[in-house]
Amino acid sequence: MGTEVFKGSRKSRRAWVAAQKKYMRPGGLTHLQVKHDDFCELLAGGYLCNCNPIRVLKDDVGRILALVENAGSYSPLEFLRSGQHD
Ligand SMILES: [Zn+2]
Repeated sequence: MGTEVFKGSRKSRRAWVAAQKKYMRPGGLTHLQVKHDDFCELLAGGYLCNCNPIRVLKDDVGRILALVENAGSYSPLEFLRSGQHD
């Protein structure tokens, strides 16, 4: 099918994992945002993310706690592991 998937950089992926560990605590009110590009297949109703979205963690009043770019294409499994996807 040739769908391109971005791997991102290892540094960014690690930063994102670290940010989730730091801010996404059980019972906490952390909001997770994945900003996909307009062309992303996931937004068009597909199952695969083929962009390189910006990941953002916000607190309960919308302040940005962490923002990570270039961590690669989004996989739903990413957040099943953390168990806090809303
Ligand atoms: Zn995407």
